[in-house]
Amino acid sequence: MRKKYIFGVISILIAAGLQSCSSSLAVPLFEYPPEMKDAAVRENIVKDYSAYLAGKKIFLDAGHGGEDRKNKDKNGIVTEADVNLRVVLNLKKYLEEAGAQVFLSREDDKTVDLGFRSELANNSGAEFFISIHHNAPGKSEDDFTDYTSTYYHAKDESYEYDPSNRDLARYIERDLAYAMRNSGGLGSFDGTYSDYIIYPGEGFSVLRKSKIPAVLVECAFHTSRFEILRLNNEEFNQIQAWGIFKGLAKYLRASKPEIKIVSDSLMDGNDNFVLEFDLHDSTGINPKSIQVFVDKREKEFTYDKVSGKVLLKTDALQPGEHLLKIVAANKNGNYSFPFRKKIIVSDDLSVRIAD
Ligand SMILES: [Zn+2]
Repeated sequence: MRKKYIFGVISILIAAGLQSCSSSLAVPLFEYPPEMKDAAVRENIVKDYSAYLAGKKIFLDAGHGGEDRKNKDKNGIVTEADVNLRVVLNLKKYLEEAGAQVFLSREDDKTVDLGFRSELANNSGAEFFISIHHNAPGKSEDDFTDYTSTYYHAKDESYEYDPSNRDLARYIERDLAYAMRNSGGLGSFDGTYSDYIIYPGEGFSVLRKSKIPAVLVECAFHTSRFEILRLNNEEFNQIQAWGIFKGLAKYLRASKPEIKIVSDSLMDGNDNFVLEFDLHDSTGINPKSIQVFVDKREKEFTYDKVSGKVLLKTDALQPGEHLLKIVAANKNGNYSFPFRKKIIVSDDLSVRIAD
């Protein structure tokens, strides 16, 4: 069903593209979004977005490159590594215009080990990791297959899953797909996918090893007979970067809850541990979204809407290290960054929270 639909859409687009040689009714392969055509409008948008992007640290990873240049379409016209890099360099330009600080895994065509990419990101001090790729078809697909997809790590039932990754993926996916005029495909409702779909229980190395919110974008299929007509065009790569730029800015504009520890620990009269946290977001907190885990098990807690305080009472914990995880979403549906800490209980049962 999905394949048939994609086939239909692409056929129309290719037919339209071919028409451009002979007919004045031709539909172009791509078009600048209206705001990119007008310098003043574009500048204003960048200025507006700088309210959310200025001072933000963002790590961009152009997939492949150097010795890894094997991903090409069947005629060798488009090399994925090169398209990834052009999108990244354009995205860097837009982000810097809006005042963000950008780090790159590579700035030219060179080999960067897969494991080293997440290490670079983790050590850079960046707050986000965005890996840029272009897709190729699986066994059951062909060179008509073409859709935009954005991956987040793990699945929501697994402890490793951080919903903030999916939020970031949703925003980037939507604006990228819109800018490219390439839909998100029908394999998921919003064009975002768990990386467990590709590698069950493991996901993508760069996402699994990243300690900061991370997404991997498969902008389009570099093997698609339609995309090969435009992916080597620098102007089109600017449009792709612009879509990702807007998605990231809108994600930041929608804000996310901040979680802070109020008191390390108190003991109540019944030898229970009591931990107190403060949840805050300018749009308000969705109380139903709050979850608190100790040693990977969900715990009961109380939440006071007025003060924003979460009170967690647990039975006495054994001396040693315990895992704490809290998630909460704001009224826009955006989740907090991962709040994963350790509860350290000493032999005298005094407690402190550590990273
Ligand atoms: Zn790739």
